[in-house]
Amino acid sequence: MAHDVHMHMVLDGVDWKAGIGRHKTQVQEDYVKNVLEIYRQKGYTYLRDGGDRWGVGLRAGSLAGEYGITYRTPLSPLCQKGHYGAFIGKTYENMYGYAALVQEIRQQGGDFIKIMISGLMDFDRFGVLTEEGLPPAQIKELIHIAHEEGFSVMAHANGARTVEAAAEAGVDSVEHGAYLDEDALHAMAEMGTVWVPTLSTVANLRGKGRFCEEAVVRIWESAAENVSRFASMGGLLACGSDAGAWAVEHGCGTEEVLLHQILGDGCDEILERGFCKIKEKF
Ligand SMILES: [Zn+2]
Repeated sequence: MAHDVHMHMVLDGVDWKAGIGRHKTQVQEDYVKNVLEIYRQKGYTYLRDGGDRWGVGLRAGSLAGEYGITYRTPLSPLCQKGHYGAFIGKTYENMYGYAALVQEIRQQGGDFIKIMISGLMDFDRFGVLTEEGLPPAQIKELIHIAHEEGFSVMAHANGARTVEAAAEAGVDSVEHGAYLDEDALHAMAEMGTVWVPTLSTVANLRGKGRFCEEAVVRIWESAAENVSRFASMGGLLACGSDAGAWAVEHGCGTEEVLLHQILGDGCDEILERGFCKIKEKF
C-alpha cells in the first residue's frame, strides 16, 4: 500500500502560482477529485498534506474517504511574519498570535500543526539557505504550545542547528532537513523524530537546466549521504515526496525509488518503521 507523508494538494508540480491561483477564490473540487483519483489508481491509502491557507487540503480531507485514502492536513502552515512560508501559510507576529492560530486550526478541524522554522535551499548555491532558522528558544516554544494543545508537530526545517533545536524540543517530524551534521542527526535519532527528507524536490531537478547543475548534484549527494548515516544510526525515515513542488508530480513515486537507491535491501523495513510512527502521531 503506497503512501506519501508530505504532499501539497494545492500545488500541481508545474507552476506554484498557477496552482494556488486555481483555488484562491474557491476550492476547485473537480481538481481535488482528479488528484485523489490519481492517488487511488496508484494504490495510495495514506496522504499527509504539507498545508495551504485556502482550504484545499481541508476539502481533500473531506473527500479522501471516498477514494479509500486516510488524509491528514494541518490546514495552514504557520510561519513567523517576515520569514519563509507566507506564500502558502498564515503568519503570526508573536507567540500570542501563534497560539491564536493554533486555536483556529483546532476549531477548523486541522489534524496537526505545521510550522515553518527555516528558509529553503538556494538550488544554485550549495550549502546556502535562503535564510537562517528561528532561534532555538522560539522553536522550542512553538512546539511546546502545539503539544500542550494536543497536536503533533510537523516542521519545515533546513540547516543543522535548526533541525537539532527542533528535535531536542520534541518535534514529531522534520521535513526536508538539508545540510545536517552529526549532532543534528544524532538528536533526531535519539528523540525518535521522524525525518522526511523529501529527496524528490532535489533529485528531480537533475538534468532539468532550471538551476546550476553542479549545485543541484552536490545538494543531492549531501542529502543522500545524510540519509544513509541517519539510517545507520537507527533513525526513523519516512517516504514523503513534497508532491506538488516543482518537478514532483502527484503520485510520481520518485521518493520511494530514491530512498531505495540509498538504503538498499533494508529500505522497506526502515520506511515501515518511520511510517508506523507517522501514523501513530499524525
Ligand atoms: Zn512541502
